[in-house]
Amino acid sequence: MAFHRFKALEEVMTRTPVDVKLPADKVSEFFGANVFGKDAMRNFLSEEAYGSVMAAIEQGTKIDRKMADQIANGMKAWVMSKGVTHYTHWFQPLTGTTAEKHDAFFTPVEDGRAIETFGGSQLVQQEPDASSFPNGGIRNTFEARGYTAWDPTSPAFIYSNTLCIPTIFVSYTGESLDFKTPLLKALNALDKAATEVCQYFDKEVTKVTTTLGWEQEYFLVDTALYNARPDLAMTGRTLFGHSPAKGQQLEDHYFGSIPDRVAAYMRDFEQECWKVGIPVKTRHNEVAPNQFECAPVFEECNLAVDHNQLLMDVMEKTAIRHNFRVLLHEKPFAGVNGSGKHNNWSMSTSTGKNLLSPGKTPKTNLQFLTFFINTIKAVHDNDDLMRASIASANNDHRLGANEAPPAIMSIFIGSQLTQVLADLETKVKGKMTPEEKTALKLGIGKIPDILLDNTDRNRTSPFAFTGNKFEFRAVGSSANCAGAMTVLNAIMANQLMQFKKEVDALIAKGEDKDVAIFNILVKYIKETKRILFEGNGYGDEWRAEAKKRGLSNFNTTPDALDAYVGKKSLDLFESLNIMNHREQEARHAIYLENYTKKIQIEGRVIGDLALNHIIPTALKYQNMLIENVEGLKHIFDGADFKKVAASQIEMIKDISERVSAIKVKVEEMTEERKKANNITDHKKQAAAYCDKVKTYFEEIRYEVDKLELIVDDESWPLPKYREMLFTK
Ligand code: ADP
Ligand code: MG
Repeated sequence: MAFHRFKALEEVMTRTPVDVKLPADKVSEFFGANVFGKDAMRNFLSEEAYGSVMAAIEQGTKIDRKMADQIANGMKAWVMSKGVTHYTHWFQPLTGTTAEKHDAFFTPVEDGRAIETFGGSQLVQQEPDASSFPNGGIRNTFEARGYTAWDPTSPAFIYSNTLCIPTIFVSYTGESLDFKTPLLKALNALDKAATEVCQYFDKEVTKVTTTLGWEQEYFLVDTALYNARPDLAMTGRTLFGHSPAKGQQLEDHYFGSIPDRVAAYMRDFEQECWKVGIPVKTRHNEVAPNQFECAPVFEECNLAVDHNQLLMDVMEKTAIRHNFRVLLHEKPFAGVNGSGKHNNWSMSTSTGKNLLSPGKTPKTNLQFLTFFINTIKAVHDNDDLMRASIASANNDHRLGANEAPPAIMSIFIGSQLTQVLADLETKVKGKMTPEEKTALKLGIGKIPDILLDNTDRNRTSPFAFTGNKFEFRAVGSSANCAGAMTVLNAIMANQLMQFKKEVDALIAKGEDKDVAIFNILVKYIKETKRILFEGNGYGDEWRAEAKKRGLSNFNTTPDALDAYVGKKSLDLFESLNIMNHREQEARHAIYLENYTKKIQIEGRVIGDLALNHIIPTALKYQNMLIENVEGLKHIFDGADFKKVAASQIEMIKDISERVSAIKVKVEEMTEERKKANNITDHKKQAAAYCDKVKTYFEEIRYEVDKLELIVDDESWPLPKYREMLFTK
């Protein structure tokens, strides 16, 4: 038996922490050393070329071909100084990971020699074979041509000895096939809409950028144990496994010190991150045993998304060196907490102001309240889209499972801001005297900039205001943040445009600007009350209450995804020029297909493991029991035999019953899979996998986990929960 758990455990016992040294005395000496950022650009680009990249970043201007040639030349000179031989366009297809196609810099020339070449055309555009990426039917495979195009707003970097150029990925006919393209468009839409609203308060503001600070949760499992669990290796989660006698009840892991082997791993991947400019800063244990978290300093949203994608890759690669496997799956272990990726989100102006940070003056606070209340309104009007943006087969295990935010979207704002909104509601009147207006403005001038109950008190809310940002907590740990960020920025852009229209209409009727703003904000406060919730989001009472309030609650991915193709969101994305109907429908199909494939693979692995690992092991043990009973028969007779063999016979029966139950259920599940595989409609197929196939998983698991408790520990093939979660 190649991967028996005892052999694996022996290996684990001999492990020692890997020695990790800092590449320099101080982090500041090598931070971003492998990024073609401002410093490198100044050194390797002409003034003109540098200016054109900066203009592209700051104003979104186009870079012409001649300039691209110059920039490519500079990039080449930079990487040649670092011994880099290949380059790749680095992009984010809808499979959820990142994709690369490496090309060498050298070009053969006459006489069998070669020279290094890299021009503007290679920098700007590449044609990877797009047929292997999901496209939702946008391209037929016979014209499997998509291309990648340079995104100058995210700097190129060196990773694994390769120059990586962040790019978008679109079909030959121009439709987006990736996460980045709609994100960039949503960010652009938000910039425009928010800048216009800022003009009410500050004419100096010329641009608004979205900021994102993610928090990445993950589990670590020793490589040897991981390899002995085909389910982990194939699906990223354990499909069987009885919960250990001790779980996370004591929360001793959360408060404990970080084990040495893990600390070495963290040091190592953090250094790798710093070299490529990912500003990871905090690290700590999480609630579940063997669960950890890291978080960076927040950055501009597009860059933060790229950095999170890169981080996940760095974490996986570095883990191998430390004989760990990192589990980014949302729910690797049943019965212990899963992993999320909080998305801390805010907006910041070209004048350096955080728009979600309460200010010191009435004017800045009216601006704060404007963006704060508009966010509430945007989420209120599009709660279904927010839910869709975090839907995945993996995340279904978390949402609503009494540990993570429920599948119901609600917003926590804290008691002080609740009071501010209540005050506004009573004090703002349709027409206001100058005195009333002044009194009101002075009142909001007193919003404290430290909001005591917004630090982190309510962990159960999916969308919480945490003092100077909103925190979208329902995002899954393995997700690309761009999915959630595209939706949030798009609905916010749409909302701000709506707001401006309504305020301008009042102003056009002769209303004072501030009074107009106050009035529209109060209208929103009244309209959005049902989405605000300060209580325990995990409780059943909330589910009942939310239903009464008419909030949506989609428990499964196939249902949650419907929102993407509802008329409201089709029109919203199209009107903002983020995605047309075809692109959205294609994306919807891809997400459904991803879901189906995930469940399909899990179903297969469950079947294989049950039939090839679990049943044979149980039968071997049962045979031992049978032999034992036979032996007893020779020694005892009659009533005595009955007495001494009763428990063994009971166990033999129990095993038989469970083995038959497993066998029957696996067969039934396989039948349902066959039926589901014949369905051609994506939604119906995903629904069949969800309602007809997946329902067997728990039932089969229940029997298998019972067998784990009965069968001799020594012959059980799969590493047990206590071993994967508690061995250091
Ligand atoms: P927590 O208690 O949730 O761990 P932290 O104070 O550690 O909160 O911050 C969590 C995240 O919030 C970090 O990634 C940080 O960069 C991010 N963050 C802080 N301010 C902002 C902001 N203005 N915009 C976006 N993200 C922010
Ligand atoms: Mg947080």
